[in-house]
Amino acid sequence: MTTATIGAAKITRIEETYGHFFEAKKFFADWRDEAVAEHLAWMAPDHYDPTTGFLKLSIHSWLIDIGGKKILIDTCIGNRKSRKHRPFWDNLDTPYLARLAAAGVRPEEIDMVMCTHLHVDHVGWNTRLDNGRWVPTFPNAKYVFSKIDYEHFSAIDRDPRQGPAIGGAMRDSVFPIVEAGLAQMVDGTETIEEHLKLTPAPGHSPGHVLINLTSRGSQAYFSGDIIHHAIQVYHPTWNSFACVDQPTARTSRRMTLEACAGSGALLLPQHFGAPHICHVDHKGDGFVPRFV
Ligand SMILES: [Zn+2]
Repeated sequence: MTTATIGAAKITRIEETYGHFFEAKKFFADWRDEAVAEHLAWMAPDHYDPTTGFLKLSIHSWLIDIGGKKILIDTCIGNRKSRKHRPFWDNLDTPYLARLAAAGVRPEEIDMVMCTHLHVDHVGWNTRLDNGRWVPTFPNAKYVFSKIDYEHFSAIDRDPRQGPAIGGAMRDSVFPIVEAGLAQMVDGTETIEEHLKLTPAPGHSPGHVLINLTSRGSQAYFSGDIIHHAIQVYHPTWNSFACVDQPTARTSRRMTLEACAGSGALLLPQHFGAPHICHVDHKGDGFVPRFV
């Protein structure tokens, strides 16, 4: 179980899945084996499998416990969700809630859920199946959603030529939260509570936000999918196939790496392989990860 301490905040990684979902060359259009060769010593086996050419990616939530408040950042894929567009994520049955319990937290105790963006692997545990209905998994939580992403994916979902959006995730994992009156829409420029501040970081999705945690002079950044894989610390111009606005995604990635390198903040992405978190140092005009 990966844990970190930022001032008064205790952070725990809640794993859903950790495996080989995507071929590196298809995930990163800029991928070149020559560019990666010098990194194999740290990449294999926790970040990349050189034998198959597949990336190893984690899908997890970050649990923040601060001042008695329990906050969950991003909610993975979820159980029993029909995801025919991604067979490896279809109809999952993982012990995610048991892992949350092992971290000492029941779903009713979660005070806030924050989604960095509304992609399929970041909203799933917002809901669970109960007698054929999708109900909020965390019934006492306020769910913080990007208003820009919400409007963007709602419009796609309504369009019969394009919908359902994000593989059906709006319908089973986002709309039920709004209908239950638990959603709080944000534009990405607010302080969401004493210790958590949002910054717009678009590009991967139109309304992606970067979440800053500050406590007692220490900082962390929850970066969602601004950066998918640790190789992008060395190659911040590399976008994933899923980045919708490529130049803007590069700008948001560089902004995030600069913010970490300039402040000593811990970087907590949603998909890095073990050890899942790192500091970022300047090197020349680029960056290097310093794993914790
Ligand atoms: Zn993701």
